[in-house]
Amino acid sequence: MKNINDICTRGKKVIIRVDFNVPLDKNFNVTDNSRIVAALPTINKVAKEGGKVILISHLGRPKNGFDDKLSLHHVVSSLSILLNKKVSFCRDCIGDTTTKDVDDMENGDILVLENLRFYKEETQGDFVFAKKLSDLADIYVNDAFGTAHRSHASTAIIANFFPKNKFFGLLLYKELENLKRALENPKRPFTAIIGGAKISGKIDVIQSLFNKVDNLIIGGGMAYTFAKAIGGSIGKSLVEDDKLDLARKLIAESQEKGVNLILPIDSVNANRFNNDAKIIKSNISNINQEHMGLDIGAKSIEKFSEIILKSKTIVWNGPMGVFEMKNFQAGTKLVGKAICRATKNGAFSLVGGGDSVSAVNQFKFSKDITYLSTGGGAMLEFLEGKKLPGVEAILD
Ligand code: AMP
Repeated sequence: MKNINDICTRGKKVIIRVDFNVPLDKNFNVTDNSRIVAALPTINKVAKEGGKVILISHLGRPKNGFDDKLSLHHVVSSLSILLNKKVSFCRDCIGDTTTKDVDDMENGDILVLENLRFYKEETQGDFVFAKKLSDLADIYVNDAFGTAHRSHASTAIIANFFPKNKFFGLLLYKELENLKRALENPKRPFTAIIGGAKISGKIDVIQSLFNKVDNLIIGGGMAYTFAKAIGGSIGKSLVEDDKLDLARKLIAESQEKGVNLILPIDSVNANRFNNDAKIIKSNISNINQEHMGLDIGAKSIEKFSEIILKSKTIVWNGPMGVFEMKNFQAGTKLVGKAICRATKNGAFSLVGGGDSVSAVNQFKFSKDITYLSTGGGAMLEFLEGKKLPGVEAILD
């Protein structure tokens, strides 16, 4: 796999697809700059050797063309501070103004172009739009893992115009290396922990993990659908009634494949979806009609931790409960802690998905996890064994 370290970009115009889709507060300050930080190695490598850095990204989901609230000029000062270097901004991403701004660049300059999604052609994967972007540069680099599962103009189509000059950025390269490390010849036991709100978005990943893992732990809201599917009473807990058969099928499939599927034993229940709600703990299959399960209970945490501590490869996606509320965060926090301990004992751990990564950051576990992935959807699709268009476009 070719990455940007394989060439010298001095004097060349390098268009880099980054993921600057960062959260902004009401004054348009960047509240979490981790995606910008993750893109720095590639930007620095090109700028320091005298390449001209042209950065392209999306920000949010603009509905109807230009929207100042979603302009990428909001990220320029954060980037400039992190790089300790002047960063210029262009009010468009294609057209005459953009061409002129690019032509005016000196070696080592950094220019951020306006939000790609102000043009609907970006998400449509439009060929002409991709060609216009490609005309700005000599070299194309994809460093946006978060959008690598999308076949958009800037993530996949554009690569067609750089048959010999397309490269992985250092972040995207590192993401792929770490995901491959988990999936190709993993050290065993291999344990996956899948949580989050619903089964629906994670069926494919659960099924494909059955072919790879030794243990599959299920937590979070989706666990209650499993509990109901096997005859439990789950009160007002989150449930997908149209997925009960599927849950039973997944349980049967795990048995056929010899995978140890581990469901929570107990649950922390509340009478309202609120941190101050009255709490009652019970077996997960015995929640009374007035309550909903918002976290896994102590026995589940103990059982999950025991399995995690014996594992040598661990993949985690999705929280164990409503960790955003203090009274329902113990499951996510203690499962995270067990992963950190296993990692200290030599296991390889990979955590991905927006909510799991925020939980890891919130509990300050990031330094004790082997690799924190920047892509939620892209990581799931990779684990499902799907080909990511943004990756394939560079490989072919
Ligand atoms: P996902 O995007 O599918 O990974 O889901 C993440 C969300 O699931 C988080 O916002 C959690 O608060 C939520 N969640 C986790 N456990 C539960 C639960 N038992 N009931 C309701 N929501 C939950």
